[in-house]
Order: sequence, then structure tokens, then C-alpha cells
Amino acid sequence: MRRNKNFNSQPLLYLISTPIGNLEEFSPRAKRIISEADVVACEDTRVSRKLLSIFGIKPQQLISLEKHKELTKSNQLVDLILKEKKKVVYMSDAGYPAISDPGQILVKQCLDNGINVSVVSGPCALINALSCSGLDSSHFLFYGFLNAKESARIKQLQEIKTLPYTLIFYEAPHRIVQTINNINSVLGNREMVIARELTKINEEFIFGTAQELATIDETTLKGEMVIIVDGFKQGREKIQIDEEGIASQLKECLKKKMSKKDAVEFVSKTLNINKKIVYKLMNNLD
Ligand code: SAM
Repeated sequence: MRRNKNFNSQPLLYLISTPIGNLEEFSPRAKRIISEADVVACEDTRVSRKLLSIFGIKPQQLISLEKHKELTKSNQLVDLILKEKKKVVYMSDAGYPAISDPGQILVKQCLDNGINVSVVSGPCALINALSCSGLDSSHFLFYGFLNAKESARIKQLQEIKTLPYTLIFYEAPHRIVQTINNINSVLGNREMVIARELTKINEEFIFGTAQELATIDETTLKGEMVIIVDGFKQGREKIQIDEEGIASQLKECLKKKMSKKDAVEFVSKTLNINKKIVYKLMNNLD
């Protein structure tokens, strides 16, 4: 067990969350801590330099973590912190480091080498989207990006199909319609929300069922988007899939001289369907 107390401790790496659109969301604390750093590590130096220059911040040293060299670069940063006693911060292009963005390897390397890690809070697309979605926010699964290949994406959706938690996905604009179609066909016709261009001038929330959203005009879906889907609800999907099947199973049971109660019990157990639903269907049998 290890307990890291972060405040005023050294060595320490600060992660900095940056705006996901609206620049007013760059916090005073984030700006101060970046200004005080000896080294600012980032994803893309061009993006970070541009953002920092808007706020008049000239970093002493700006280093890219480079996605495909994150391990090597992280080790260099660990050396800068431990051997050269440099104050290092890591900022993402947009939103939180390590959330569908580089940073996780750097954090692990720091922790493994006795460096504390703290975060300067700020915007995060999934939290903005979820909090305004109206869907159950008490339990949710953040999936991040689904696979770019459709067959793999379908398999991933099948794996999480019966989770009773609100599902949150990030998606690239050019794949959004295909992904909505995949969600509709694999997860079923659930309530969905698309949160588009959060914190920006074109911010929009699109509410509807998967079937409705699958028919949306693709040309109106521009910019960055988060997809939120209602969790699996036992009964809803089953009833949609096979109400007739349940009824015919019940009839079979009755033919075999089972009591109504036993038939409901049997069908509910074998088909894994809520007993109340099966009971209702039993009462509707002609
Ligand atoms: N690290 C970021 C965070 O904390 O939210 C996420 C970065 S990830 C590379 C980019 C994805 O986040 C986009 O494809 C989109 O799904 C989502 N995203 C980022 N900014 C957004 C915005 N302003 N509106 C809606 N979605 C956004």
C-alpha cells in the first residue's frame, strides 16, 4: 500500500485539463501552474503553443509526448523530474489527459518511480454530455472509442449489450452515422442522446431513439460528438424481440397441463424474462 499526499509535495507531476472548445474554461489555476513549470509536456506542440499564446503564456520548454513514443518520452520526463529536479506539467490538446488521449503511460511511469501525480480539473466531454443527457447518470460505463472496423465494433457492442448502465462513447464525425446504425441493430431501439460541439457556439443535444437517430441527415452532424445510450433494461428488449415466442411457450406449457403459475415460472426462468412481464402475457392469452 502507498498513500500519496499531493499538496506541496515533490516530486510531483501535474496533469492539466484544457478547454474542449470554449476558451473561457481554461482555469486560472491551470494557467498559473503551467506558467510556473520548467517543462510543459503536451500532445501536439503546435496546438499547445497556440492555446498558451492566447493567454500570454510562454513555456520555458515545450515537449511533445508523441503518441507512438509515449513510453520513451515518459521515461525522459521522469528523468527530468527526478534527476534534474524540474517542475513538469502535462497538458492535453483538449479535455483531460489520459481520457481517450495520451497520458496513461506517463502517469504509470511516474507512480512507479515514486513521483506523485495530481490533476488540475477542467472540462471533460463525457461528463458535460452525461450531465445534460437526462439519462441515468448514477451508474454509467464510459467506453471511449469503439473500434474503427465495423465487424470489431459490432462485437464490442455485443459484449456490452446487457449491461444495465448508461453507455457513453466517443466517436469521430466521419463514423458517427455508421456507429448509430450499429447501436440500433445490436443494442436495439433504445433512448439515445448525441451531444455535439460541447461548450462551443454550435453546441447541440439531439434526443431520440436509436431508430430515429439512425435516420438523421448526416450533413447536419458536423464537429465533435459524444454518444450516450440508455442501459439494458430487462424486459424491454426481450418483449420487443419475441412477445409471440413467449406466448407460444406459455401455450405449450398449458397444453402439458401445467398450472398457470408453474407455466409463468417455467417460461420466465428458461427465457430469463421478468416474471411480471410473462404473467401479463399469460393473462392476455386467447
Ligand atoms: N480527453 C478528452 C476529454 O477529456 O474529453 C477527449 C479527447 S478524444 C481524443 C476526442 C473525442 O472526445 C471526440 O472525438 C469526441 O467524441 C469527444 N469530444 C471532445 N470535445 C468535444 C466537444 N466539444 N463536443 C463533443 N464531443 C467532444
